Amino acid sequence: MKVLLQNPTFRMACQQFDGAADFLGLDASIRERVKWPKRLISVAVPVKLDNGDVKVFEGHRVQHHLTLGPTKGGLRFSPSVDIGEVAALAMWMSWKCALAGLPYGGAKGGIACDPLRMSPRELEALTRRYTVEMIPFIGPHIDVMAPDMGTNEQTMAWMYDTYSTHAGHAVPSIVTGKPVSIGGSMGRREATGRGVAFVTSRALEILKMPADSRIIVQGFGNVGSYAAYGLAKYGAKIVGVGDRTGALYDPNGLDVEKLFVHFQTHATLENFPQGERMTNEELLVQSCDVLIPAATERVITAEIAAKLQCRVLAEAANGPTTFEADAVLKQRGDIFVIPDVLCNAGGVIVSYFEWVQDLQNFFWTEVEVFDKLYRILSQTFDQVLKEARQKNIDHRTAALTLGIQKVVDAKKIRGLFP
Ligand code: NAD
Repeated sequence: MKVLLQNPTFRMACQQFDGAADFLGLDASIRERVKWPKRLISVAVPVKLDNGDVKVFEGHRVQHHLTLGPTKGGLRFSPSVDIGEVAALAMWMSWKCALAGLPYGGAKGGIACDPLRMSPRELEALTRRYTVEMIPFIGPHIDVMAPDMGTNEQTMAWMYDTYSTHAGHAVPSIVTGKPVSIGGSMGRREATGRGVAFVTSRALEILKMPADSRIIVQGFGNVGSYAAYGLAKYGAKIVGVGDRTGALYDPNGLDVEKLFVHFQTHATLENFPQGERMTNEELLVQSCDVLIPAATERVITAEIAAKLQCRVLAEAANGPTTFEADAVLKQRGDIFVIPDVLCNAGGVIVSYFEWVQDLQNFFWTEVEVFDKLYRILSQTFDQVLKEARQKNIDHRTAALTLGIQKVVDAKKIRGLFP
């Protein structure tokens, strides 16, 4: 298990957990049970490439705890994936699900690959073989996957088909984030980004900031694009965006509709004819009202945190702020942080709705989905702010301690077997 600590993202998740556990005064026995992931699964995934070669990819799944229900979490395709990164993301999923009151433990999966350099046929073969390797360890009441970085509705459709073919009947509740035509939920595609836009607008309201605040979004994939789109609909001005090819900044505001169309056509922001081009590091420290990292982990380092020029930091990505950067933010005290486990919870909340609809074969309208989503997000947002105020702690500690305490309580009341 300690091998996980070689990964900096897992170390960061542990540092966050230890800080929250110290605040809660957890004793060593319960602390260890709550902290360490229950199951680590690594598989070799052989795939025949289009050039005839066979390449073996490394696939992982980490199921963090099984105390409150099945485990739930995304599947990521990215060159950086390793077991430590996946374990950190699974741990954060546990606190996120508990915080939002969902009956799940956290999980995450990943395959070390570069999806941008693979053909659709290779991606399908990779997804199907990974699913087959995972069949002994997953199930609608065991572990349910969803899209994350580098995966999408098509990936989920292939997983659903592979699992159902083995079961001999359709099992839509095996994954969430599927196309609506095969049992996906209305609104799941946009849920994470729209949830980010919703909680950000709540923060703007509380801080009495204008609706046309200036927003920078790093990452223009599923989460970032819908967050930008959602905030533009609330009246905000998107002044900067970035993706893996670089960034654009225009203090007068970028045309979000055009950005959306450009991205859907070219799958990158490259050659978009508006804004000053810069690096992602430069983008993060430009002047704005709200900064939304929506790409990947650990992009806000201590050095960058000291230079941030935003009033609100809305963490749409998982783990975008390093432990050291967090200390800088606490010391500065001028930035309103919406921590990841709260900010991007819209995705797993609507995934939960999709799972419930699939189990019941009874489907909801988009209005019903967003009405229920915003109600949960709003309550959770208020709870985190109240906890922070009452205990005089920062928003991240408040969110993490609320989530962790629920897992602690569940483990204690269930007891230890045998
Ligand atoms: P995605 O693959 O759809 O998009 C990722 C975007 O980030 C792309 O625009 C890519 O170019 C950009 N990017 C990647 N690496 C980058 C880098 N180093 N610098 C700048 N840009 C970079 O992924 P997504 O589903 O939008 O996920 C983004 C983040 O949100 C991840 O941290 C993910 O774990 C988190 N998240 C996703 C969901 C979901 O429902 N998809 C839910 C909760 C949290």
